[in-house]
Amino acid sequence: MSAAIIDGKAFAAGLRGRIATAVERFVAQAGRKPGLAVVLVGEDPASQVYVRSKGKATLEVGMNSLEHKLDAATSQADLLALVGRLNADPAVDAILVQLPLPTHIDEAAVIAAIDPDKDVDGFHVVNAGRLAVGAQGFVPCTPLGCLMLLEDRLGDLSGLDAVVIGRSNIVGKPMAQLLLQKSCTVTVAHSRTRNLPEVVRRADIVVAAVGRPEMVRGDWIKPGATVIDVGINRVPGAEPGKTRLVGDVAFDEAAAVAGAITPVPGGVGPMTIAVLLRNALVAAHRRMGLPDPQAL
Ligand code: NDP
Repeated sequence: MSAAIIDGKAFAAGLRGRIATAVERFVAQAGRKPGLAVVLVGEDPASQVYVRSKGKATLEVGMNSLEHKLDAATSQADLLALVGRLNADPAVDAILVQLPLPTHIDEAAVIAAIDPDKDVDGFHVVNAGRLAVGAQGFVPCTPLGCLMLLEDRLGDLSGLDAVVIGRSNIVGKPMAQLLLQKSCTVTVAHSRTRNLPEVVRRADIVVAAVGRPEMVRGDWIKPGATVIDVGINRVPGAEPGKTRLVGDVAFDEAAAVAGAITPVPGGVGPMTIAVLLRNALVAAHRRMGLPDPQAL
């Protein structure tokens, strides 16, 4: 293996530490803690684990965590009413509605109901538009976390060739926008892309956000490229009945060629919650008319 391992777990721990310090400063200035409201509808086990981790991380950096757990049968009207109350609540700076929602609820309608200035997931169309035109808003947590890892590793990204594999609204598209903002030459690949290995071989930066275990092979990677693997895929483990997590990139193969690479787990994954806390703290500053906290 020749690639440097990009340690997202360590970077995220450092970021959470800087957030905790900035929260203390905010409390001294504003006279209150920032508040992040998380809404969970139903009992999806993965969502429950995720919401618990978010709540714990929120408290650890000194913010208020306001959890709203609703029954799976909650109507769309009741959920929208709760979002309306959270929008109006001065103690709530940031709102996150955990996805996926039960099938009887229209996710787009719920996201559209969140005040864009409290939408710390950055999923509201207003925030997608702000990102597209380079205006101040909120950027989805996972791609922003990827950008932080890239800039930490490479410094100035200007002029680099970047290939983003995946064009979802929550990862691929905002990732491409962020890289474009940093003056990369960006290609967005997807399921209809022709000659994907060839396209990827041009890239100085590869971001894989596909959801297909180990799809990106080592011989797709340009020697020395930086590889960010967003994929989280559960596959059968070595022992019967056991599973393990792998990314969208064949790690060992790619690590033999790349200059640097994120592992799965321990790469992009830990960044998502840390960036959520960062976005919540930024939302609190903006709501109080304070300048954005620096060095986050
Ligand atoms: P989506 O399923 O929404 O999007 C997948 C994208 O991959 C689509 O644009 C699709 O193309 C493209 N794709 C599918 N098959 C191929 C293929 N054979 N070749 C090229 N492109 C292909 O997924 P998400 O963006 O939500 O998530 C992607 C991965 O990232 C998942 O593994 C997910 O678990 C993980 N993830 C991790 C997070 C973290 O915190 N680390 C957070 C969010 C996601 P098309 O549009 O043409 O269908």
